[in-house]
Amino acid sequence: MFKIKNLQISLNKKNILDKIDLSIKDGDTHILMGQNGAGKSTLAQSIMGNPNYLVKGEISFNSHDLLKLDPQQRAALGIFLSFQQILEIPGVKIYDYLKLLYKTSHEKKFTPLKFKEFLKERMAILNFNEEFLTRSLNYGFSGGEKKKMEVLQMLVLEPKLIILDEIDSGLDIDAIQAVAKAVNFLKKEKQSSVLLITHYSRILSFLNIDVVHLLSKGKIIKTGSNDLVTEIEEKGFANFLKA
Ligand code: ADP
Ligand code: MG
Repeated sequence: MFKIKNLQISLNKKNILDKIDLSIKDGDTHILMGQNGAGKSTLAQSIMGNPNYLVKGEISFNSHDLLKLDPQQRAALGIFLSFQQILEIPGVKIYDYLKLLYKTSHEKKFTPLKFKEFLKERMAILNFNEEFLTRSLNYGFSGGEKKKMEVLQMLVLEPKLIILDEIDSGLDIDAIQAVAKAVNFLKKEKQSSVLLITHYSRILSFLNIDVVHLLSKGKIIKTGSNDLVTEIEEKGFANFLKA
């Protein structure tokens, strides 16, 4: 269970989020939508422990008080947040990097052959061919490939709470489908919970949505089901908020 209670987040003394309550049951998928600047990324970053933000209130995951933990400790509990600005790291071979990620996040050891199989299954979900493993991390990758590489890292880490911040922006439909497939894979294999931030309903048609939240000017002003997405898409944020 992931739980946020009466959360207030500020940055440089500016209040960005206020009175946020949000609970995600194990295995559930929540969608967070809202206009640019509403505070979506601020919330995601604060859950992960970005030290730039001043956070008051409660955030817990499986009864662990996250506000007492640094980002590495939060990741060790199985929380994953995709990066929005993805770094290119020339010289770091993808295969070696993913192996390191696996080692730091799993107790069970694999033989090199088993690990290759583990990777192969996950790369197939994302339509990556094996040639990628010999390349440098994100170096010379297209925007879409970088995002898929984030998701491949997620598939290796096998997080219990997946937070994806606009992962679908700028992706073609095949890549969107691949990302959704990756999320569904972890939901099935690991009963992972999901908090997905998006502007588009496209990716949502490939996922089973439990709850949708609308964030506006730092507050969750509406929580509902999938219908809320349709309604927002038809009206646009401004009109929806007026009504
Ligand atoms: P969203 O992800 O919903 O588009 P953000 O969480 O990125 O919104 O931003 C929320 C608000 O915080 C915006 O009004 C944004 O301008 C403000 N903000 C973000 N970073 C800074 C900063 N470094 N200094 C001042 N305000 C900031
Ligand atoms: Mg954002």
